[in-house]
Amino acid sequence: MLMLDGMTFHLETYGCQMNVHDSMVIEGVLRRRGLRSADGLGDAQVIILNTCSIREKAEEKVFGRLGELASLKERGNLTVLGVSGCMAQRTAERVLERAPAVDFVTGTETFPTIPRLLERILAGERPIVDVSTGHPLPEPAERSLDVNGFRAFVSIMRGCDKRCAFCVVPTTRGPERSRKPDEVVAEVRALAAAGVIEVTLLGQTVNSYRDGATGFAELLRAVDAVEGIERIRFTTNHPNDMTEQVLDAVASCPKVCEHLHLPAQSGSTRVLAAMGRGYTREKYLRVIESSRAWMPHVSLTTDIIVGFPGETEEEFRDTLSLVEEVRYDGAYTFKYSPREGTPAASLPDSVPVPVMKERLARLNERVRALSDEVNRGLVGSEQGVMIEALDVDGPWAVRGRTRTNKTLLLERAPGPVGSVHRVRVSRTRGLTLYGVPVPEPVV
Ligand code: SF4
Repeated sequence: MLMLDGMTFHLETYGCQMNVHDSMVIEGVLRRRGLRSADGLGDAQVIILNTCSIREKAEEKVFGRLGELASLKERGNLTVLGVSGCMAQRTAERVLERAPAVDFVTGTETFPTIPRLLERILAGERPIVDVSTGHPLPEPAERSLDVNGFRAFVSIMRGCDKRCAFCVVPTTRGPERSRKPDEVVAEVRALAAAGVIEVTLLGQTVNSYRDGATGFAELLRAVDAVEGIERIRFTTNHPNDMTEQVLDAVASCPKVCEHLHLPAQSGSTRVLAAMGRGYTREKYLRVIESSRAWMPHVSLTTDIIVGFPGETEEEFRDTLSLVEEVRYDGAYTFKYSPREGTPAASLPDSVPVPVMKERLARLNERVRALSDEVNRGLVGSEQGVMIEALDVDGPWAVRGRTRTNKTLLLERAPGPVGSVHRVRVSRTRGLTLYGVPVPEPVV
């Protein structure tokens, strides 16, 4: 313990919100063992990259960064270089081969033990690899409660039992395990006591959460009852788990925001079957219909992959027509990228890269145009807006967020960061809304 006291650390996070959450846990355990944040990279004695494996590009970026940090280690202050997260879990040996300056590799379950690894390294042992699995989920007390201001991520489950043909998550994060509802609620209460007013519940398929008789709907109601919390978000969802019970809870819990992220991945039933998604285009559209029946003004966003092996032009057009039919508020779109060890990586009929690029450009154009139209339809409406930042460049210096997860800019701050105000939307530009405060405050 004494050896670590006063050491400085720098943490870099790649990838999804779950990784951002895990980085907070890492930060929390390091601080509790006496380490402190470095003022800058050059001042750090311990540098940890918390990595992502979802796309090849993400892994290459980490290798590039490790090359830069290796020269920093040769020249200066840096004592320990570590790699954690999904890429570390999947390719620990390759990380050490390609980046010999790395002192330790921890996976997606062993990162809470980093202080113990640091002590072993300082005692002369290196490199150390610990990507073992089957550990209990990190305790709520292990996270850092004080580093993210008024918003916080709360991981309610880990891993995934679905088997989408393109995805590495079941390999890197293991089977689905839900936390105890009492533990989740206790963590949210502790966050509220520390000043947090917005929580985002996280899981690879957050809406399939289940612990005994408590499903996701019951958990949402329990978190909704926590005093001090004003907004509840959750991500990411699987369409098959978006049940009527969950939609009822989202619609009826006042703090739960009316925004659903529902990854479609494709609009073609044949491609969905090849992807192993477990639903058809028709079933997906029924979930959208139900969502809008429960919440007519719900904001809908999605993930879409273009160029999955074998995807024909006609099947791609099914995706375009799905986008037209749903009229999403926004979409994250990707070119298919084969990941070693996944069933899709060995599928024949890969779509040529120029075709994928062209499809992605056409898709993005439609997604942007439709989001624009959806947003223009909000001009004149009143929205509850939480103030997030007061120093955005230019005359629209105040950034807020609607319950439907849209960025809204204001000229003047109606209140401090974290306060919620009623705002009338005056115009839109692309994905951004602009507005003026309406006198009465709302919660
Ligand atoms: S639902 Fe599919 S895409 Fe999502 S994490 Fe699980 S396997 Fe991956």
